[in-house]
Amino acid sequence: MKRFWIPSLLLLTLVSTGFSQKITSVPALPALERGLDAIKIENAKADLHFLADDALGGRDTPSLEQQIAARYLRARLMRLGFEKGFKDTFIHPYQLPQWGMNAVETHMTLHVKGGDFQWAWGKDFFYGTGSRSDRDIKQASVVYLGPSSKANKSKAKVEGCWVVVEGSRRPSRKTRTDLKSRGAHGIILIPEKGEGEEIAEKQASLYKRQLSPSWREGPEAGGFATIVLPLNTADALRRAIGKAKPGKKISCKISERCSVWSGETTLENVIGIWPGSDSKLRNEVIIVSAHYDHVGKHEDGRIYNGADDNGSGTTGLLALCEGLAEYGPMKRTVMVMWVSAEEKGLWGSSAWTKNPWFPEGMGPVCNINIDMIGRNAGDKLNITPTKKHEEYSWLTKVAMQQSKFEGFPKLGNADDYYWRSDHASFRKNLGVPVIFLFADVHEDYHKPTDTVDKINFDKITRVSRLVLRVLDQIQEEKLSN
Ligand SMILES: [Zn+2]
Repeated sequence: MKRFWIPSLLLLTLVSTGFSQKITSVPALPALERGLDAIKIENAKADLHFLADDALGGRDTPSLEQQIAARYLRARLMRLGFEKGFKDTFIHPYQLPQWGMNAVETHMTLHVKGGDFQWAWGKDFFYGTGSRSDRDIKQASVVYLGPSSKANKSKAKVEGCWVVVEGSRRPSRKTRTDLKSRGAHGIILIPEKGEGEEIAEKQASLYKRQLSPSWREGPEAGGFATIVLPLNTADALRRAIGKAKPGKKISCKISERCSVWSGETTLENVIGIWPGSDSKLRNEVIIVSAHYDHVGKHEDGRIYNGADDNGSGTTGLLALCEGLAEYGPMKRTVMVMWVSAEEKGLWGSSAWTKNPWFPEGMGPVCNINIDMIGRNAGDKLNITPTKKHEEYSWLTKVAMQQSKFEGFPKLGNADDYYWRSDHASFRKNLGVPVIFLFADVHEDYHKPTDTVDKINFDKITRVSRLVLRVLDQIQEEKLSN
């Protein structure tokens, strides 16, 4: 795309006052100056007040509010004339497996002489960690093993049976593995007489967590089921145990149906391209990234606004786009990328870098990542990799040279964070040099108190200006140490 870079108002004035012949002699501001001037504190304020508003609900992955944030970013790319960064769209969709419990279809039945007790999941019984997978066990016998801590001593025949133990914790891993290899269906844990309130509360909170879908691992197949009974249901089972000695079958049967669903969820990264002007160098793409997700809401409704983490970097990248739009094309192509699900474990950057897309003929040369750049002392900014880090490269050197022009006399050491934000995905999966700019954690890190009123907007814009300076300096033919 081509643009006429003399500010149009000035041009009009010159034309209308009859000085049109002198236009060629009016010196336009150098591209870098124009770009730096376009990075404005007021704009950064407006952007972050939107992104870190309660209405954006903490930009959780996945959430409607996160999708709204993505569309806000896309709107800016469109307005500033960026090209689509993923095939024919600005939004790179990626899929993640998702699974959860079919609550209604998950139930237990205690069969005793006088009739059946129907138990509902989340009220009458709970699952311990690693217990949720598809199972349908009908009328299995029950063996009583006594106190949980002594279950390892028992040599009872447990094949095809449930094992009942008493206590506040399930038996050790070794005992569980042993019981599993001997063919038991799983462990049913009942509280000892007199205890229980606290356990019941713990279980209820575990259950609440199990209600929302999980992504991290698939259904916990192959795990050894632990079922926890609160006092009210444990009593019925206790009556069936009666005076039975540990190691004996008791006079009841138990059926259990555990049902999980699995599917996929679509998440989004937002990507724009600022095409380079040099016929050869334009194929070399510099990627600037920031994650736009945060951690959503607390169970009690408090919102984690994530103004600094990473509303600040998200805003800083928007400011950089404003700068690029005024700078005009660089020799190399710049790709700007807001990724999601950083807080879940760098999922967005990892999905893209494992399957990257570039316009034909283009490929990556480096990545600059910004995350948390709006807090702590105004002159404090850290970088990784530093000279002390084995991944140190020409890119760090350039940032070190430029930082003093933006009020960061010396960049501090963030080497402890080399694998902690999205640049790690670019390094790992694309093999390109990376730098990470980061103003460090603070007392509001990952708390609902990370709010917009505490943000230093001047600092955010100076980091954006620094990135623009770095981009400007790495336009020469050869990039190297
Ligand atoms: Zn972050």
